[in-house]
Amino acid sequence: MDWSNNVIDDILRATQAKKALDKLMLPFWNWSQRNSMYPLHFGLACCALEMAASSGPRWDAERLGIIYRSSPRQCDVLLLNGWISKKVRPALRRLYEQMPAPKWVIAMGECSISGGPWYDCYNVVQGADTFLPVDIYIPGCPPRPEALIDGFLKLQQKIKAEAKGPFLED
Ligand code: SF4
Repeated sequence: MDWSNNVIDDILRATQAKKALDKLMLPFWNWSQRNSMYPLHFGLACCALEMAASSGPRWDAERLGIIYRSSPRQCDVLLLNGWISKKVRPALRRLYEQMPAPKWVIAMGECSISGGPWYDCYNVVQGADTFLPVDIYIPGCPPRPEALIDGFLKLQQKIKAEAKGPFLED
């Protein structure tokens, strides 16, 4: 199958069809990206309980296309939901790097935004944006499930505005 994929790829490149297809499919690609977000199901601290509540039957985040997955290879959103110790920081960075692009980061709660109650603690990272490109900040201690869902809706708007990522791999 590899040889046929390569031949098709060569033809698409040679005829500029790849660029045309990208342009044509971008609105559809972007629509499907923002309506099917896959956050990593990874709990850091107490905010993770609100994350769990948001996907329960009362708030039902799945109805908006927010579906938690357990492998970073299947995810496009890294949801940080608690304080980040210096020991866990390299593991989080690694999880982020294992996610395929395009990908986004949400900082949920005061701890992941700025260290929260541990703002001057020797072993707590003073904000996720010191080592990851955070796209959306959701303040609160903890933010309620409604606030988390609102953050995802804001991310949808951002994905729509950015329209990044080709439909075909380069
Ligand atoms: S922001 Fe508050 S609820 Fe969330 S992890 Fe920090 S202390 Fe816990």
